[in-house]
Amino acid sequence: MSLISQRELEKLTNDLSLQFFDKPFVDVVTFNHRLRTTGGRYIPAKRIIELNPKYYNELGYEEFVGIIKHELVHYHLHIEGKGYQHRDPEFKELLKKTNSPRHCNPLPSMEYDFKYHYYCKECNHVYKRRKRLDVKKYRCGRCKGMLALDMSNQK
Ligand SMILES: [Zn+2]
Ligand SMILES: [Zn+2]
Repeated sequence: MSLISQRELEKLTNDLSLQFFDKPFVDVVTFNHRLRTTGGRYIPAKRIIELNPKYYNELGYEEFVGIIKHELVHYHLHIEGKGYQHRDPEFKELLKKTNSPRHCNPLPSMEYDFKYHYYCKECNHVYKRRKRLDVKKYRCGRCKGMLALDMSNQK
């Protein structure tokens, strides 16, 4: 499965926002490959939704849509000055109303077998290896971009 582009991500987020919340999404949504055990997060101070590209790669579209909806619940409540934290009744209510997941599901492949995770600096595609890769020698198989070790997976 290929990673969606930034533009597609923005469109998807806005589409979901309109469909489930009847409001547009007018702020910033972006991928953050440093996120490890969370599928996404909302940063209230910056009004940014960050999403974990690994969840899109490994869990697929449906799960990913769920994560975006969950973050949109935080977002819309926050910008309207309502309780937007997990413990807030308004949060729980809007989760239910929009049929959004309460938690992000863990990645199926979790890091046990493949100790080293590399991502492409260009297209964000993730490669998992049991052994170290020479990033000077190997390039992304999809776009020939440079690879980098994902340090968040190092234990
Ligand atoms: Zn949350
Ligand atoms: Zn690439």
